[in-house]
Amino acid sequence: MLKGRNAVVTGSTSGIGEGVARALAAQGANIMLNGFGDAAAIEALRAELAAKHGVQVFYNPADLSKSEACEALIQDAEKRLGSVDILVNNAGVQFVAPIDEFPVDRWNMIIAINLSSAFHTIRAALPGMKKRGWGRIINTASTHGLVASANKVAYVAAKHGIVGITKTVALETATSGITCNAICPGWVLTPLVQKQIDDRAAREHIDEATAKHNLLAEKQPSLRFTTVDNIGALAVFLSSEAAQNITGSMIPVDGGWTAQ
Ligand code: NAD
Repeated sequence: MLKGRNAVVTGSTSGIGEGVARALAAQGANIMLNGFGDAAAIEALRAELAAKHGVQVFYNPADLSKSEACEALIQDAEKRLGSVDILVNNAGVQFVAPIDEFPVDRWNMIIAINLSSAFHTIRAALPGMKKRGWGRIINTASTHGLVASANKVAYVAAKHGIVGITKTVALETATSGITCNAICPGWVLTPLVQKQIDDRAAREHIDEATAKHNLLAEKQPSLRFTTVDNIGALAVFLSSEAAQNITGSMIPVDGGWTAQ
């Protein structure tokens, strides 16, 4: 379905980003991977996707907390892939503390990675998309782009900001063959959430299964985690021709979290 399209997926060495990269590659898209992690594991992922799906897959280790690195990532993708047709802004980090104890450097880091990086990659990728008259921008927001939770001030602010960027870009590109949407997952079982489960188990002196159940029961009525494959399938759909008139949308994938 996406044969010949070129995609950049930020934060694709783990979790949701990896799931999205796998899903886009399975549909024939060439991929620029990005993110941190073990060099051998990243090379294994790159080689696996290329061999399995007969697509080109590259890796760029850009640190997206830096604006110049965001621009350089897009330039590198345009050079090595030929264009950036699909841009998935997904890299993100979390830190949990009440606002009056929230470390300022953590605030700055979360705003830089979870919010500002999308501003920088989008402004770098848009001229090429406009020239070609086709583009898909998909931002991994969160239920925390729509509602808040205590102790996540930087994350909630950044994700609400991503929703704002999504709407603005959608309006600015409305007639240009480009769409810009936000996927808003609830709980997805990735390393980012596993850390919150481990912290909870330690804090409440409970086992991991109980910590998982309690985490879900607090927010996600389905009591099931969304999978990274579920998010990947939605990213494929948003990249397809069938989704050509979906733009400026916030799409919750949250087991009923934001229906409450
Ligand atoms: P994860 O920790 O598994 O993956 C995060 C990815 O971002 C990794 O590839 C990591 O290397 C990369 N990354 C971190 N800092 C970076 C930096 N400075 N520069 C470049 N890459 C960097 O987490 P995840 O759960 O897959 O999260 C992915 C996105 O989904 C995030 O934006 C997160 O906020 C969002 N999200 C996650 C959930 C969930 O339940 N897991 C829910 C809603 C939204």
